[in-house]
Amino acid sequence: MPVAKNEKKGFNKLLVISFDGFRWDYDHDVETPNLDYITKAGVKAKYITPPFVTMTSPSHFTTITGRWVEEHGVIHNMMFNPQTLKKFSFKETQNKTEWWDNGVLPLWITAQNQGRKTGSFHYPGGGANYSGQSVYRSLVESLSHPDSNETEWRENIDIVLKWFTEEDFDFVTLYYGEPDQVGHLKGPETEERRIIIRQIDRTIGYLINAIETHNLKDKLNVIITSDHGMTTIKKAPNVQEILLSKYINFKNLTKFDIVDYGGHGMILPKPGKEEELYQALKNAHPHLHVYKKEEFPVHLHYAKNDRILPIIVYADLGYNINGRIIIYVNKGDHGFDNINMDMKTIFRAFGPDFKKNYIAEPFDSIHIYPLMCKLLGVNPEPNNGSLAITQEMLLGTLDPSQPQPDHSEEITFMVLIAVGVVLSILVVIFIVYVPYTIIKRKKGPNQEVEKMNRTQPETNF
Ligand SMILES: [Zn+2]
Repeated sequence: MPVAKNEKKGFNKLLVISFDGFRWDYDHDVETPNLDYITKAGVKAKYITPPFVTMTSPSHFTTITGRWVEEHGVIHNMMFNPQTLKKFSFKETQNKTEWWDNGVLPLWITAQNQGRKTGSFHYPGGGANYSGQSVYRSLVESLSHPDSNETEWRENIDIVLKWFTEEDFDFVTLYYGEPDQVGHLKGPETEERRIIIRQIDRTIGYLINAIETHNLKDKLNVIITSDHGMTTIKKAPNVQEILLSKYINFKNLTKFDIVDYGGHGMILPKPGKEEELYQALKNAHPHLHVYKKEEFPVHLHYAKNDRILPIIVYADLGYNINGRIIIYVNKGDHGFDNINMDMKTIFRAFGPDFKKNYIAEPFDSIHIYPLMCKLLGVNPEPNNGSLAITQEMLLGTLDPSQPQPDHSEEITFMVLIAVGVVLSILVVIFIVYVPYTIIKRKKGPNQEVEKMNRTQPETNF
């Protein structure tokens, strides 16, 4: 059956919803009829891998830019300044352009510059300006925003769908702070977490119905994803907790630090103290990894950024990095190495351009960006993703005339091969034909014309 298109524009609208901290397997121990319905009606990836560091702002910004964290520069949830010693919380950063705008354009801006109408509803980074441009419509969460009000969740869906129907928006990102909040406060293996997953599933059911009501079913693609998973924090007396002050004297060795923030931390040593600090921490705890910035594993695509402090520490799954005293209260956390299954997250998609009942193999979240560009017919910015990873989930109904991701090198190579083949064939024909023609000509010109005409299509690639 032909897929109904937005005839006017040649592409369908796109809604991206992020449920913060939705671990890849949260639907395994809860009834989720609406998520199951989406799997049948669309695409489900077995799981996806967020970038290192598995934190909210860095990961969301990778999704919306297609760039590794070290390239887009939003390297932590907190904005900080090691000179002034100031720190700003995740929510406080949301309007701070200086934290988000590091020369990499998020898709909202790129799409706007190519004629799309875009909006961000609470999505991290949506409130900042990029190269002086703001997202056409952006709602930013207030500092006291409640995370789990189901009525508000539905109202937000109504608002966003009206943006699509009444104001002809093309691309909107919608963010919810759950199940992250419950995961932190209660832990991922709790009834409270299962309750919030049921609430999310009901909300998705509400969305499916609302899409029908708004007559958007054949015009709107929907991606549901998240930024990281969640794991249960290991505490004494079950384990020996990591407490840095057992190994270093903060006052003597450090100028500035970001610790007590889950399993990841960074330290700026006092001048001349870097080696002493490094040596003191290097083998201090069996579950603590300590790196000089320049020796940090390259495959994590994290440390090559000016904002990264000289010493990076991260802990094995479930260990919090405590600084001077143990004040940490979370039952669950993320921020650990993205190789851990507990850090993996979800990807679902449905709509007119997606296959139905399709299970995709796991992939890195960085590949969502070129997929979104493809769906919106937008020329991507330079990025670290690859459409080849994600395009299998598409029906192939997208307008081939729309801008394609830049594969110009491949295309040039293929054109060269094609030209080579054509030239070779022409040479062969010439070699075979010229003597043949000379012989034929002796027999009469009319026959010759007929031959040429029949030969023509064979060389016409
Ligand atoms: Zn998060």
